[in-house]
Amino acid sequence: MARPRKWRRVCFLPTNTDFGPTANGDDVPRVVTMTVDEYETIRLVDLERLTQENCAEQMGIARTTVQRIYEDARRKLADSLVNGASLHIEGGDFRICGEDERPCGRSGCGRHGYHGGIQERKGRRGIGREDGQD
Ligand SMILES: [Zn+2]
Repeated sequence: MARPRKWRRVCFLPTNTDFGPTANGDDVPRVVTMTVDEYETIRLVDLERLTQENCAEQMGIARTTVQRIYEDARRKLADSLVNGASLHIEGGDFRICGEDERPCGRSGCGRHGYHGGIQERKGRRGIGREDGQD
């Protein structure tokens, strides 16, 4: 029996998904891929200054899970900074906050930084405000 997947709630997708050294000569840097849910822990813990406990609550998952993916995310950041790896953000087990529920209203939540399929689907379903700004 497969265990049900636990989707991790993230408030929005990253606007920028590729980072890396800018003075790397002709070397093609190694690429490290960070998942969107890992990215969200960095945003919530390091930028929004949530505790891991509050971060877990915000993302709808266990604190031990947050601890694990936050550590993975930090290791990837360090790999990029110290070893000059390029960082690419993509994929992961996540759902967008506000799609199937009320948006959490936290700072940056529902930011329109991404112009892909998810925002379009959201628009068609008519969830949330109709401000015509999109
Ligand atoms: Zn949110």
